[in-house]
Amino acid sequence: MPEKVSIVHCPDDDPISLTGAVAHALALLGSPLSRIRPRDRVLIKPNITAQDISWRQGVVTNPYLIRALIELIREQNPGEILVAEAIPFGLDVKKAFSFLGYDAIARETGVRLVDLYDEAFVHLPVRDGKVHRSMEISRPVLEADYLIVVPVLKTHVATEISVCMKCLMGILSVEQKRKFHFSGLCQSIMELNSEVQPDLLVADGTVAGEGNGPMDNEPVGLGKVMAGTNSRAVDLVAARLMGYEPEKIDLFCMCTEQWGPLPETEIQILGESIEKAVKPFKRPVTGVAPREGATQMNGNACKTCAGVIELALRRAEAMGLLDQLTPLRISYGPEASRPPMDGNNLIVGKCLSHFKETGYFVPGCPPQVFLITDGLAEMAGHERKFGSGEGYMFSDTEFLSDSG
Ligand code: SF4
Repeated sequence: MPEKVSIVHCPDDDPISLTGAVAHALALLGSPLSRIRPRDRVLIKPNITAQDISWRQGVVTNPYLIRALIELIREQNPGEILVAEAIPFGLDVKKAFSFLGYDAIARETGVRLVDLYDEAFVHLPVRDGKVHRSMEISRPVLEADYLIVVPVLKTHVATEISVCMKCLMGILSVEQKRKFHFSGLCQSIMELNSEVQPDLLVADGTVAGEGNGPMDNEPVGLGKVMAGTNSRAVDLVAARLMGYEPEKIDLFCMCTEQWGPLPETEIQILGESIEKAVKPFKRPVTGVAPREGATQMNGNACKTCAGVIELALRRAEAMGLLDQLTPLRISYGPEASRPPMDGNNLIVGKCLSHFKETGYFVPGCPPQVFLITDGLAEMAGHERKFGSGEGYMFSDTEFLSDSG
């Protein structure tokens, strides 16, 4: 049986036509919501990666799409519907629910909004994991009778695109998210998706995000919703729709190597064709721009790592930090030579952890933008925005031994 993925034109905030579009996308799949039984607990996991950025920016899931989905789920008379998220470190999903209008939708429809950090996490064993033996996953997600993931279609500096497979990271504890960034992000995402398979994926392309995601996207009025029951298949089709060649995206290459091929010819696309729906998205940055007062020592870094550093430097520039750190030396990439011990040395990435005593070291593979920016703030004598960062400073050896 081929995997099915539907693509349907969808307005962004007209409730009636939006509900009609989602219903059509699901009907093309054979009405997967009909598998919901009375008294089931249905959990909807949106993509909320910011607490004060409008959904019209293509960064977070359109709340009107969630509302449309709730209306359709209620037709199945489930016992309970939850909308739940574990937002990225340092942010507050309750503020996001309020800012984005999820609060109002919950009041009108009677669904329960859940900050997954208020709930328990359980250790789920990872079978055949290369970098994880277990993962801390939200108990309500594992206990849900029917799980629906609703990501935004967007570009992402560390993974190229972020759709269904990446969105699933929002069911992890903070600590587990940290570990993902230490152990190879794509491999970790694969291992998570091999253990947790949602019942339904509804990808939000009403307003998608291009450019420097996951937080600095520019909006794309794509006007599409996609649906499917296989995350990898939906992501492959989404990549095409965003103008990418999936065979050049690391995550899909790793899926092919480790899970076997999923030929696109075996994915049945229903509704609009890719040819009709495609819109090439602006890509995230992949290199560090030259800057006066900042010397780069790029030791053949992965392009995602360089892109992450560039975004962090842009944020630091906007905060006036780089002027305070001149001259700054930035080392990154596995072949970078040993930095001298003097001056403002920023050393970025797990592959240079052996040089961490020579300057200010930011771990991760790839590292996270906010950690680099916070590191630059600390180097310049300012307070960090996202806490001490101590939780990130364990060594690779410590991580591997305590991963369960
Ligand atoms: S830390 Fe090193 S290996 Fe990891 S993404 Fe960056 S350059 Fe590549």
